[in-house]
Amino acid sequence: MSTQPSINEIPLQNAGIQKTRSVCGYCGVGCSLDILTKDDRIIGIQPAMDGPSNKGALCVKGQFAYDYVHHPDRLTQPLVRRADGQLHPTTWDEALDVAAQGFQRAVDQHGRHAVYGIASGRTPSEANYAMQKFMRAGFGTNHIDNCSRA
Ligand code: SF4
Repeated sequence: MSTQPSINEIPLQNAGIQKTRSVCGYCGVGCSLDILTKDDRIIGIQPAMDGPSNKGALCVKGQFAYDYVHHPDRLTQPLVRRADGQLHPTTWDEALDVAAQGFQRAVDQHGRHAVYGIASGRTPSEANYAMQKFMRAGFGTNHIDNCSRA
């Protein structure tokens, strides 16, 4: 395989734009795409014409839903709400303890069906399996769903 850029890639390289082949993680179709970056920032997504499952097509999520990556509101560390009502940065250990206490409080006060789990369509099957096991075996409820079927 040639390491020379194709004629279509030369203008991108001249503009300082890198193209990185990847796979869309929004659902299980697994569309191939090329991520366009400049100065370590994503500036666009192109569908891969040779993607086995998409052959040059992407849905709106795969094509356009990437601005969250650099969004200033993106959470970059665990937060807990303290007595002042505000969210404060904390450690993962404390954040997980606080979350577990909240789940326990809900179950103690309202029963096992008071909790509901929504697994992510962006995680592997194994993580979704663990999530449903967490809800069914951990809490004793079948209140589990997944955004992938939406
Ligand atoms: S979310 Fe859209 S672009 Fe991404 S893998 Fe699924 S169908 Fe393809």
